[in-house]
Amino acid sequence: MTVTIDGKELAKKIRANLKIECEELNKKEIKSKLAVIMVGDDPASKVYVRNKSKACEDVGIEYEEYLLDSNISQKELIDLIKKLNQDNTVNGILLQSPIPSKLDINEAFKTIAPEKDVDGFNPTNVGKLVLNQDTFVSCTPYGIMKMFEEYNIDLNCKNVVILGRSNIVGKPLIHCCLNKNATVTICHSKTRNIKEIASKADILISAIGKANFVTTDMVKENAVVIDVGINRTDNGKITGDVDFENVKEKASYITPVPGGVGPMTIAMLMNNVIKATRRQKGMKD
Ligand code: NAP
Repeated sequence: MTVTIDGKELAKKIRANLKIECEELNKKEIKSKLAVIMVGDDPASKVYVRNKSKACEDVGIEYEEYLLDSNISQKELIDLIKKLNQDNTVNGILLQSPIPSKLDINEAFKTIAPEKDVDGFNPTNVGKLVLNQDTFVSCTPYGIMKMFEEYNIDLNCKNVVILGRSNIVGKPLIHCCLNKNATVTICHSKTRNIKEIASKADILISAIGKANFVTTDMVKENAVVIDVGINRTDNGKITGDVDFENVKEKASYITPVPGGVGPMTIAMLMNNVIKATRRQKGMKD
């Protein structure tokens, strides 16, 4: 029987535990704060930022938002990040992507202090992930790994195929899975024979951003199917990359969209903010 992985419920459980942890910190007069920077007014980013602020409120993390005009200069952006790095009341810094293309996002990520880099995009933290050292793992891959853990899905010796090689999902996921002894293949727009490669996966993870990209003929019988995609259909419905209704007949585990990876991403961001706070106060995780 297919198990639908309930990311919403799991995220709720994680957030409830974090709320207790936050209350314990407050008793010790320790506050936790996330600063979010958004440049411009990308509609999707606005929704993501709002969801992050709600999650902070729910868990008890203080939230500070910097909404910057799209005409801001690179120097102004970097100066703000440096100021937040120095601010002892700020424990986590998140730069919401995308930012206008005239700005250098890589320099911005590099400027975020590694110990406040709760999104895991600073090259130091990315390097630590590659080296299998303790670090802040970017929140979507981290959320997926947490789902595997909670549902007892063992990656050891498994064939994992990842569709999509973005810096925020596909690339960090390679190392998360490799660090758990999986054999990992990553596909992108220049990959030949995606169907054939995908259909050999014990675990198939799609982060492409195209509705119904993953069809039943791409899925091995009893494969685990993780759908990262968020796509809006013509009638305004949110859907993933996977043809859920048909693929679920074949998969052993599958994540829905909405209610799968999305809520886990935010829960792991909250987890990273609390982790950053504890570390900055010299406490154990
Ligand atoms: P992205 O930066 O646009 O990357 C998309 C990747 O898909 C690229 O590597 C691209 O290949 C590949 N691709 C596109 N069309 C393809 C095709 N026809 N065949 C094979 N590969 C193809 O996207 P992203 O930021 O990783 O996001 C991917 C999706 O996940 C989006 O729908 C996004 O909204 C969603 N997302 C969800 C969450 C969540 O929390 N649930 C978090 C992040 C993203 P090239 O590199 O060759 O161009």
